[in-house]
Amino acid sequence: MTNHKRRFSLVLIKPSHYDDDGYVIQWLRSAIPSNSLAVLYGLALECAEHKVLGNDVELEIHAFDETNTRIRPKHVASLIEGADAGMVMLVGVQSNQFPRALDIAASLRRRGIIVAIGGFHVSGTIAMLSELDPDVRRAQEMGVSLFAGEAEGRLEEVLRDAANNQLKPLYNFMNDLPNLEGAAMPLLPAERILRTAGANTSLDAGRGCPYQCSFCTIINVQGRKSRYRSADDCERIVRANLAQDIHRFFITDDNFARNKNWEAILDRMIQLREGEGLQFNFIIQVDTL
Ligand code: SF4
Repeated sequence: MTNHKRRFSLVLIKPSHYDDDGYVIQWLRSAIPSNSLAVLYGLALECAEHKVLGNDVELEIHAFDETNTRIRPKHVASLIEGADAGMVMLVGVQSNQFPRALDIAASLRRRGIIVAIGGFHVSGTIAMLSELDPDVRRAQEMGVSLFAGEAEGRLEEVLRDAANNQLKPLYNFMNDLPNLEGAAMPLLPAERILRTAGANTSLDAGRGCPYQCSFCTIINVQGRKSRYRSADDCERIVRANLAQDIHRFFITDDNFARNKNWEAILDRMIQLREGEGLQFNFIIQVDTL
């Protein structure tokens, strides 16, 4: 008797956006890595390790960033049709990317593929508007499942629901933002990171910001409390990437200066560089008034 494992194919896509003439903006090498894509990939790896879909199901994970990779819906659909089950998650979708996400979703839904959308547009509009945003409603009308909030500790529920063909129209975790200490690390395979200029990957040492700038969406989505990774977590992220020859990190904190653990994290990074002689660099955005 053969011991056949079923395959569930999870395809994570970070959509790009359209230019003024309606073309998808795309580069041979994109500038900024998508931390949402890395976070979801890391969480999916953890789900695969924990066999959240059962011992007899292999969770196969694909990750694509449309800013550096052409997305062909037929090919994406084939990754799922070639498995026993699966779904597409359009991740980290911001407002200017939502029209593109809807177009990708529409063409996948026509092929009968299960699709979910998460990111700042879904989360931000649900947090700030009294009614569902019209574009978000369009997604729901297509049968796309919506995810608001952050996926730490929640991805396995969505995967199980998809595997059982019982995906809910909306997963709303906006009032329950997760702690990050000990959470799965953001990680992407080197072959995806090499598609960014300078082979940069991302590191979110923390999320949330205590300030209340009137123009800021971040605090409506990631909250005003500093949630942070431990120094051990950050060391694991650095070592995992060095092991695949990736040495450059874009720190994506909303406000690293207000990350309550900044000093312990930087002390650990100094120890790794100066104590152990590990070679790695950081990029961080500095806004000044
Ligand atoms: S994240 Fe930046 S823009 Fe937003 S509230 Fe904090 S300091 Fe202001």
